[in-house]
Amino acid sequence: MGAGFSGAVIARKLAEAGLSCLVVDERDHPAGNCHTSEDAETGIMIHRYGPHIFHTDDDEIWAFVAKFGEWMPYRHSVFATVGGEVYSLPVNLLTINQFFRSAMVPAEAEEFIKTLQPPIADPANFREQALSMVGERLYETFFRHYTEKQWGVEPELLPASILKRLPLRFSYDSNYFHHRQQAMPRDGYTAIVAAILDHRNIELRLGVASETLTETFDHTFYSGGIDRYFGYCLGDLGYRTLRFEEVRTTGDGLGCPVMNFPDPGTPWTRMTEHRHLSPWRNHRSPVSIIWKEYAQSAVRGSALFYPLRLAADERLLEAYVGLARQRPGVTFFGRLGSYAYIDMDAAIRRAIDTAAVAVRALTSGNSPPAFVHQPLGKA
Ligand code: UDP
Repeated sequence: MGAGFSGAVIARKLAEAGLSCLVVDERDHPAGNCHTSEDAETGIMIHRYGPHIFHTDDDEIWAFVAKFGEWMPYRHSVFATVGGEVYSLPVNLLTINQFFRSAMVPAEAEEFIKTLQPPIADPANFREQALSMVGERLYETFFRHYTEKQWGVEPELLPASILKRLPLRFSYDSNYFHHRQQAMPRDGYTAIVAAILDHRNIELRLGVASETLTETFDHTFYSGGIDRYFGYCLGDLGYRTLRFEEVRTTGDGLGCPVMNFPDPGTPWTRMTEHRHLSPWRNHRSPVSIIWKEYAQSAVRGSALFYPLRLAADERLLEAYVGLARQRPGVTFFGRLGSYAYIDMDAAIRRAIDTAAVAVRALTSGNSPPAFVHQPLGKA
């Protein structure tokens, strides 16, 4: 299994049950795409694969991660620069009043937005979901082009679930997330994941691709792309990858952690100013580090970030799932292994559940199933 959050959690749970685990990751660091490390010049903690904010309503998950390091209270704020103005995200009462040049109170805004919503009973894709939530003009301004840049396809081809991640608020609450717990690890995510992996029954090998292993194992847990596991024999699943371009400024560059650019003319999707992701740190350096984020199609060997899940991907996934079910001895899990757009807390929840099933099976002489969470169905 890889050394990302999901793999580390499964390994920990197996190790605590007395099973020995080898964790192998082709990268030279643990924590997968959550990896953080300090910039050598400024000491700023950099989210090496883009901004990751931990948030959850699941008390068990919160209690679990809290055991492995100190977490700092954090409230994520995101703004959008579009049409020569800066708006507050997620779409909230300030966004609505600024956009429509109005001063509505919550109930008025809610009634007003209802008048913009076309009657779509069961939104079938991202566009329909967005239109039925905020109507045409807000969709065109804030969602359509950002989504085209992020996913590289028309929003009509994307699942509605992608937009359901974002709240719409008829208040001035601009907290990007609505979960009860929202926090950042004081010393970065990599320290947390390294602590999860720190157990006498876990051996960690970094910089090693799983394909190069020659030992045999009682069971394999695979958190890479399922298409890669099968040597891409049926074809390549679609993924998006990200490219980051660094800008160093003096002083506060953005004034917030993340600025989105939902207009079609700007090639990047968002900018992240890393020092604002660790507001409790005493940043002595006058230099600030901003990353511009560009989304693009992944090719073999790319760092994978988002499963695309177009209709053709769903069909291919079904075929790979069929292969996986005929291959005893391997369990697929995690954002890549199960080809699901899940957040950190959901990945940890699934890893804990997967480990529970696996421990029961392995300690009673049975083989754990290929999937504990079914990867097919509504994305
Ligand atoms: N999105 C958008 N405009 C925005 C922010 C988000 O259209 O300003 C859409 C876009 O399709 C994105 C999805 O909402 O992929 C989820 O956004 P989120 O901020 O949760 O993305 P993540 O941080 O996971 O990349």
